[in-house]
Amino acid sequence: MIISEKLNALLKQVEKPARYIGGETGIVIKNIDETKVRFAFAFPDLYEIGMSYMGLQILYNILNKESDIYCERVFAPAPDMVAAMKKENVPLFTLETKTPIKEMDFLGFTLQYEMSFSSILKMIDLSGIPVLASERSEADPLIIAGGPCAYNPEPLADFIDLFIIGDGEKSLPALLNKYADAKEKGMTKAEFLKSVVNDTGIYVPSFYDVVYNEDGTVKEYKKLYDEAPDRVERCIVPSLEEIPFPTEPMVPFIETVHDRAVVETFRGCTRGCRFCQAGMIYRPVRERSKDKIIDLARKQLANTGHEELSLLSLSTSDYSAFEPLAIELMQECKKQNVSLSLPSLRLDTFSFKVLEEIQGYKKSGLTFAPEAGTQRLRDVINKGITEKDIFDAVRQAVELGWKHIKLYFMIGLPTETYSDLDGIADIARKIMEIHKDVCGGGRFNVTVSVSNFVPKAHTPFQWTAQDSTENFTEKHNYLHEKLKIKGVTFNYHDDAVSTYEAVFARGDRRTGKLLLEAFRQGCYLDGWSEHFDLEKWQNAIELSGTDIDFYTTRKREFDEILPWQIIDSAVTTSFLKSEAQKAVNEQVTPDCRYGCAGCGINRRVKCEAEGILAKKGGADFSA
Ligand code: SF4
Repeated sequence: MIISEKLNALLKQVEKPARYIGGETGIVIKNIDETKVRFAFAFPDLYEIGMSYMGLQILYNILNKESDIYCERVFAPAPDMVAAMKKENVPLFTLETKTPIKEMDFLGFTLQYEMSFSSILKMIDLSGIPVLASERSEADPLIIAGGPCAYNPEPLADFIDLFIIGDGEKSLPALLNKYADAKEKGMTKAEFLKSVVNDTGIYVPSFYDVVYNEDGTVKEYKKLYDEAPDRVERCIVPSLEEIPFPTEPMVPFIETVHDRAVVETFRGCTRGCRFCQAGMIYRPVRERSKDKIIDLARKQLANTGHEELSLLSLSTSDYSAFEPLAIELMQECKKQNVSLSLPSLRLDTFSFKVLEEIQGYKKSGLTFAPEAGTQRLRDVINKGITEKDIFDAVRQAVELGWKHIKLYFMIGLPTETYSDLDGIADIARKIMEIHKDVCGGGRFNVTVSVSNFVPKAHTPFQWTAQDSTENFTEKHNYLHEKLKIKGVTFNYHDDAVSTYEAVFARGDRRTGKLLLEAFRQGCYLDGWSEHFDLEKWQNAIELSGTDIDFYTTRKREFDEILPWQIIDSAVTTSFLKSEAQKAVNEQVTPDCRYGCAGCGINRRVKCEAEGILAKKGGADFSA
């Protein structure tokens, strides 16, 4: 089918045609006859979200440097486009060459959040491809997936042919180049999958059958292909310095979530917050050199014309040369009349100086993430931040003229009691008092945002029971009353969404049936409150016979085989268990920059974190 001939008719019917036209600055157009493997990079959400995702820019750049590979993009079409495509009988297509997805060699999804899973099924279906891997033929593309949610791949095991676990910069081009050879040799899909199943980071779910105990827990993973590995080791790029980073990124025609130049300063985190999956699965810390970062920033700004520069990492000021880097970037941005955004800074005098410099009189708002309301609970979750850190920083911020403080907390954390919720209100109240003390009154407000704790795979809390939807609602109501404080605004997340997120975060293969029913019910773009349809999800639970409590409010025992144990994140289970035990005992584990905590990752890769000089600690905030 020649899609470009029908494109005009489609575009006339939709709200934001620029989502579907391609042709942006920085995209790559290749002669398709000169490439051997065609890869559609799929982001299972709207264009504006996907184009703000740095991982897409990184892999697009790397894959298109390979002469045999052509990487194109596809995003989840908005409902108006879905309707128009149905009406005009047009399947999902790539933005670069308007090729139907069905004609590609690979459809590769990035799995950034669980609530995008139904959109994956919808995108496969819109491509005219059977959603179940078992029903697909040799003529269909191989459907692969990677990203943080691939660390528990099981809910998607029935739909995805192959998962890539870990850093994709080396493993993805290697996989696609191997496919080019396999294609030339005329190998079948099954033969190809067998030929790569022992490569690091490759998980082929169809090579395993899961056997369950009578109580519903996993009994064993039975290999259906003898050569498949017992566990799949995650890919780790040992150093970022040599890994290509985009200097001519794609620049969208329309406004996206983040319209700015972005440079990743480092990957990994040493802080060890026990709820944080990113902190566990991206270990160890790997830094780019300061000169490289500045060079990349200069090139990106010159090539894109962006008016803002931001740094990407899990914790900006943990970069070992943060002060000289920030000073140089501030000078550079001033010279170029570009604004600088430094998310999640540690609270110290230097950071305030930087913020004064980059925000000037604007002072848009300071964000603090204490995560829990009392020191006891912050110790349980290993959030290395004290009340003194928060209040000292707030005082400094107020003295410097900030008028809006945003606070982020989680509720439903392990061992939480109502005293911990009272602690949230106490912090908000104390901040109002500090303002009164410093300024004597006047305009000032505090926003308290509360999200629901969702236990994640490969974290010390992977065995923990999640609060029920009813408990979350009760706690929100309690906080609503407690936070009736003049100048304080209270926001919270949808309880039902957190429950479904939790099912897929720790689900086994059987939760794929729930997902399939949800897709059949029409669930799509569930990360958007205006599209999330609770009734459809409830129908899907009924039809699939899913016991939600089994996946959410049930505590797992340490000796239970967890569905994601097939994946080896390189952090040892014994470390996670000892962290879980320390949480119950309210014991903290110091940041491993101060000394290795023994997480096990240095058995796989040299741990840069050990070589980085210990720096003064402090709380995180961003502005
Ligand atoms: S091996 Fe030690 S230093 Fe390295 S990330 Fe793990 S705890 Fe930190």
